[in-house]
Amino acid sequence: MSFESLGLIPELLLAVSEKGYSTPSPIQQQAIPPVLEGRDIMGGAQTGTGKTAGFTLPLLQRLVQSDKKLNGKRPVRALILTPTRELAAQVAESVVIYGKHLPLKSTVIFGGVSINPQIKKLRDGIDILTATPGRLLDHVSQKTVDLSQVEILVLDEADRMLDMGFIRDIRKLLALLPKQKQTLLFSATFSDEIKRLSNDLLRSPVLVEVAQRNTASETVAQVVHPVDKSRKRELLSYLIGSNNWQQVLVFTRTKHGANRLVEQLITDGISAAAIHGNKSQGARTKALASFKSGDVRVLVATDIAARGIDINQLPHVVNYELPNVAEDYVHRIGRTGRAGNEGEAMSLVCVDELKLLKDIERLIKRDIPKVIFDDYKPDPSIKPEPIQNGRGQQQRANRPARNKADTSRNKSSRSGRRAA
Ligand code: AMP
Repeated sequence: MSFESLGLIPELLLAVSEKGYSTPSPIQQQAIPPVLEGRDIMGGAQTGTGKTAGFTLPLLQRLVQSDKKLNGKRPVRALILTPTRELAAQVAESVVIYGKHLPLKSTVIFGGVSINPQIKKLRDGIDILTATPGRLLDHVSQKTVDLSQVEILVLDEADRMLDMGFIRDIRKLLALLPKQKQTLLFSATFSDEIKRLSNDLLRSPVLVEVAQRNTASETVAQVVHPVDKSRKRELLSYLIGSNNWQQVLVFTRTKHGANRLVEQLITDGISAAAIHGNKSQGARTKALASFKSGDVRVLVATDIAARGIDINQLPHVVNYELPNVAEDYVHRIGRTGRAGNEGEAMSLVCVDELKLLKDIERLIKRDIPKVIFDDYKPDPSIKPEPIQNGRGQQQRANRPARNKADTSRNKSSRSGRRAA
C-alpha cells in the first residue's frame, strides 16, 4: 500500500515523501479515503498511530480543492480542537509540514501566551485553525474569530478533552459552527459521554479503528518494581545511574510531586525538568526542547501535560507513581516503543498502589512481571494508606469551580481549569 494509491494530490505526496514516509500507517490507510470523500469519521486511535497525518492530509486536500474567499479574506474553513497546548502546537506543525506545497494558511491558538499576535493572524485570514477550547472561546467572546464558515471540524483526543472538563466549552463552540459540515472525531477510548457526543455530532460516520499497540504491547517490556514509597526516589536515581539511561520520561500523579522529584533528581546529580500545566508555556516548551536535544536526561510529567507529546523512540518510561485512572497507564507506556522500537516501561509501586496495579492488570488483561531489588525490598509491616491528590480526586474537586467559571466567565478559574 502506498500514499499514491490513497488518492492524494502530488503536492501532498511530495510533502509526505520529504518527511520520509513511504507507507501509510493503518489508521492513515483507513481514514484518508473516506475523509477525501467527505465522510464523517469516528476514529479509535491514539497518539503514535499516525492519526495526525491521517486527518491532516485529506483535510488539506479537501480545502485546496475548493478554495474560497469571503470579502477578499480567507475564512476559517477547518477547525482542529485539541485538549492541550502541546498537542495543538504539534498538530499545527503537521499542518504546516504537510501543507507546505499548498497555498493555504494556518495558525494555532492556545492559552498561556499573549492573545494579540493571535488576533493579528486571525485578522489576516486563516484557512486552518488549530486551537485549544478555552482560548478559542476567549477569541469568540472578543469577536476576533469567525467560525461560521467552518467546513471541516476535527476533535482530536476527544476523550481527553472531556476528561479535562471541556465538554461545556466544546458544546458552546459547536453551537457556533454551521450544521452542514464534515466532522472527524478521534478518541482513544469510547465512554458513554463520547458516544453521546458522537451521536449528536456525526452523520453516518465511518468507523476507523486501529488496535492500540500498547494494549498488545509487543514492543514494550513492562515491569513492576515493588518498593516503599519513601525509597522510590532513591531507586529511581539508582536505576537511571546504574543503567546509564540518557533519556527517561517519568510520570508523577501531581504537579507538586513532579516539581519535588525534579529538585531531588538534580540534588542526586541527574539533570531533570518538569512539564505540567502550572508551568508557563515558555517553560514547558523549553523543558521539552532540552529533553529532546539530550541536555536534560529526565523529563518529569503529569498525565495531562504528557498526553500527545511526540517524542520519538523514547527508550524508557518510568511510572514513579501509578495513575489513578487505569487507561492513563496505557497512554503513559505508549510514549515508549514507538514505530517498532523496543521500549521499556517500569512502574515503581508501593503498598498504597496495589489496588491501582490490579485495575491496570485487569485493563491490559495480563499480569505485569514483578522484580524486587534486594536493596529495595518493601517493608511488609507498612500498611497501605489512601492516595492523596490523585487526578481523579482533583477532577472531582475542580468540578464546581469549572461550572462557576463557565457561567461567570471568571478568567482566573478558567486558566486554573486548563492547568494540567
Ligand atoms: P501521531 O500518531 O500522529 O502523533 O504520529 C506518531 C508519529 O508517527 C509521528 O512522529 C509521525 O511523524 C510518525 N508518522 C506518521 N505517519 C507515518 C508514516 N506513514 N510512516 C512513518 N511514520 C509516520
